[in-house]
Amino acid sequence: MDRQALSCKIISIYQEMNRLNLNQGTSGNISCRFENGLLITPSGIPCNQLIPEQIVFIRFNGDIEIGKIPSSEWHFHLACYQARPELNAVIHNHALYSTTVAILNKTIPAIHYMIAVSGGNAIPCLPYATFGSLELSNIVSNGIRLSKAVLLQHHGVVCMESTLDKALWLANEVEVLAKQYINLLGITDNIPVLSDKEMQIILDKFQSYGLK
Ligand SMILES: [Zn+2]
Repeated sequence: MDRQALSCKIISIYQEMNRLNLNQGTSGNISCRFENGLLITPSGIPCNQLIPEQIVFIRFNGDIEIGKIPSSEWHFHLACYQARPELNAVIHNHALYSTTVAILNKTIPAIHYMIAVSGGNAIPCLPYATFGSLELSNIVSNGIRLSKAVLLQHHGVVCMESTLDKALWLANEVEVLAKQYINLLGITDNIPVLSDKEMQIILDKFQSYGLK
């Protein structure tokens, strides 16, 4: 895809994220790999007002396109592309249930086989660091190597996938899992989980499963 088409795709995924109720105000941001850098949503513009010309290009060396202000979280978006060269799209949001689990600083365990969407048998919660900081960027960089979905303590969630469509699908699945987990936490202290052995079977099956 050329830049114009990719920028339009980013906007449509951003709007779809709002329709799915995963975004809170303008707190979400979306990027995808493009040439020797990434294209990312700008800072503070509501998704229904976004036009393709406002999408910002940032080179992997950190050079930001002149005259534009990217999302304040661009550092960790950039770090994700360096950490996972095989993946091409990053979605960050403060979705209600994902963020609720993150406030509790809890890892979502294997409560449902769909946890395998993360590429592992849990969705980890990464330690808190100030939004927009290089410290947070380093934390996300390390976390995303281990899991395609990570919770950020007292903040939100980051999802990375091979395409924008799959990244949004992943963000939605994580929110469903987080909602299930919060519901379970309200019922019992003894939440049943799938065994590591069964999760390995599921992870093997997931090699050929998922959004095509
Ligand atoms: Zn955020």
